[in-house]
Parts: sequence; structure tokens; C-alpha cells
Amino acid sequence: MSTAIALRPSAAPPAPRPVAPGQLFDAAGFAPAGLDAKDIWERIATIAVREQASDIHLTNHRDGLHVDARLDGRLTPQGVMPADLGQRLTNHVKVLARLDVGERRRPQDGHCTWAIDERTVDLRVSVLPTLHGEALAIRILDREAGARELEDLGLTDGQLRDVQAMIESPSGLILVTGATGAGKSTTLYALLRRLADGHRKIITVENPVEYDLPGIDQAQVNRKIGLDFPTLVRSVLRQDPNVIMIGEVRDGETAAAVVRAANSGRLVLATTHAVHCGAAIESLIALGAHPHFVARSLRGAIAQTLVRRLCPYCTVRLEETADMKLLDGVRRWLAAGEQPVLSLGRGCPHCRHTGYRGRVGVFEVLSATDELRSLISGGASAREVYNCAVAGGGTPRLTIADAGKLAALRGLTTIEELMLSVSEIWTGGS
Ligand SMILES: [Zn+2]
Repeated sequence: MSTAIALRPSAAPPAPRPVAPGQLFDAAGFAPAGLDAKDIWERIATIAVREQASDIHLTNHRDGLHVDARLDGRLTPQGVMPADLGQRLTNHVKVLARLDVGERRRPQDGHCTWAIDERTVDLRVSVLPTLHGEALAIRILDREAGARELEDLGLTDGQLRDVQAMIESPSGLILVTGATGAGKSTTLYALLRRLADGHRKIITVENPVEYDLPGIDQAQVNRKIGLDFPTLVRSVLRQDPNVIMIGEVRDGETAAAVVRAANSGRLVLATTHAVHCGAAIESLIALGAHPHFVARSLRGAIAQTLVRRLCPYCTVRLEETADMKLLDGVRRWLAAGEQPVLSLGRGCPHCRHTGYRGRVGVFEVLSATDELRSLISGGASAREVYNCAVAGGGTPRLTIADAGKLAALRGLTTIEELMLSVSEIWTGGS
């Protein structure tokens, strides 16, 4: 981390200097002389929340405490603090999260809420003992940031129509899949808000509840008191809901309960961590859900990831180059008369000189057809199921890899960003 700015206190704060791409703080703004651990923490957290960082990482290394922030999905070094000041800072955060300050050998998890700019954010603090001391990962959950509409997520017009058709069904199973941090919660909340018309009882089981949704009963897993996913799902079913959202299907009991509920007149939205829709169906069956009941209830699956969006203030259009040959396979998905606009961001103060500002979802939306259902029931391989789903019964659907390429062709992101963010790009797609 030789490029990190040293945060050693000095008698006079140094003059502000230009910050590196992606950096939130300069040395003067981060830790000037005379600030105690509490003041430094408030500076770090305030700027991180205002810049919409998703996590802050405080990690002890040989040379001191490293401060990093995850911005638009990318971990970005912010600076290194002397070990003694770093220790006071980590102790302060542990106290805030009601953790045992004296315990430095075992992992600990805690949380606290924090008021900033007239709103409240939840901070989830996880402490891991490492070779050089503790590593703190602080996840920032903004309870009011979940209010995005389906239309604003990055779905293509065709995908939006497919998703709307899926949630119009009164019962059945909709899988939402993607890695941690792929934006699944935002999509699920957009779907639930669309369903919350006052005539449906909607209950969610989440770990943790990330956003507060009006008109929806949100239950939170609490393993410390034995309240895990299977236990909560059993209780939820006794409440006779119309719609259930299960934040995570990772065990056989939850997988079976999800499929049972979806076969008994309820609409179930369930989350898995698979990277594409075929793998999501496969993982549900691998956990022990019966293929026949999965097939019978399945309405469709939505896979997604997030890619950084080009900064609107410094984007320049590129000439047609050899690179664009890579994108030839997806030109047919452009609307009639739509011209490709491959672009790149030059970097400016609005995007912290990275060329990107915010992120946009890249989606794969596959609806269940009769042919797909009989393949799943018959125990076909994940690849066969996936190929059939993508063929869409005669109306081909965008794979997640092609959806990424289409976003680049539309000037929303870049091929370089896709290579970093969409793992399916490497295994084909078009
Ligand atoms: Zn910019």
C-alpha cells in the first residue's frame, strides 16, 4: 500500500493535496492533530456514508491500521494509521457495537445505529482476529436507500415485462440469485413494494433486515437465541401469508419449506447465491428440494450482478474499434434503430477520478415453460435446464453475460468493468 496517504498527526495540518482515484479522504481531512479516536471515527463514517460506501474496513497490518472503503463495489485504500491510534479507533468502534473490548482472540459480531444528515444508518460490525491484530469489517446499511423502483434497476424492457408477469401469479416460486453484494436485496424490495397493495399479507425472513418496508412484516434471524431460517420460516407459514420472501436458502429444511409453501398457494420469493439461473435451480435441488415440486411451482428465476456505471460528467464516446467485435453477438438485442455507443469515463471530481459513478444491475430473467418444467422433473443436468430456459420456448432470453455486453454497447459501462464484475463473461454466453 505504498500509495496510501500516511495519517500520522502533525502539528499543523498539511495543505490539502489531490487524492488518488477513488480516495475519499486527504491527509488533512482524515486525521489532523488533536483529534481523538471518536472524532476520527466520526469523520471516517460521515464521509463514507455520504459517499455511499457499502463497507469500511479497519485492518491491522505490520505497518499500522489500514483504512479501506468499498465504493461502488470496489475496495479502495484510504490510508494507514499508526498502530496506537489504530488501536484506540478499533476499541471505540467495538464499544459502539457493544462488543467486548477486552476480547481480542475470538471473532465477534455486533451492530449499532448511527444518525447522520437526519437519517439513520445501521452499522454491522464484524471482528476477526488476524496475525497482526484485529480486522474490523463495518457494513453500512442505509434503511432508506431501498426505495428503488423496478424500472430503475437496469432491467431491459423485455426483462421488465417477464418479471412483471412472474409476480402477477398468485402462487409459485421466484428465485432471485447472485453473489453477496450483487444487489439482490434492492431487487427483492422493489418486487415486494410492487406487491404491497394492501390486499396481500407479505412476510419476509431476513438476515439482517436491510431496509424498512412499509406495509410488510419483516422478521429477522437471530441465531444467538436460536432463531434461524428454518425456525422462522415455520412460524411465518402459520401466519397464513400470501407472499413470503426468504432472504437466504442455504439448508435442506429451508429449501423444502420454500418449495412446500410455493406449492400451497403462496407466492414465494427466495434467494440463493448461484451466479446464473440454471445453477440456482440446481442448488435448490442439491439442498434436498424435490425436483418434481420445484418444477411444479417454479415461475421463473432472476440472476443479477452489479457493474459500475460510467460517470455522466466525464464520459467520452469511443470510435468503433476491434474491441467491439466482442460485442457483435449482442447487437441483435439493441432496439430497432438504436446505435451502439461504446464509451469510457476520463475521470473527474464527480467520480473521484475513477470514470465511474454508482452502479447498475445486469440481469438474466428466465421464465418457466412446460418444456423446462419437464426437464427439471426428469432430473436433467443443470446445463440442459439452463440451455432450455435461455431458449425461452422459441423466444431467446438474454444470458447474464450477454446482458453485461449489451450494457457496454449502450454506453452504461465498459468491457473492462465486465471482465472484473461478471464471472459468466469468462465462460461464454453469446
Ligand atoms: Zn467523472
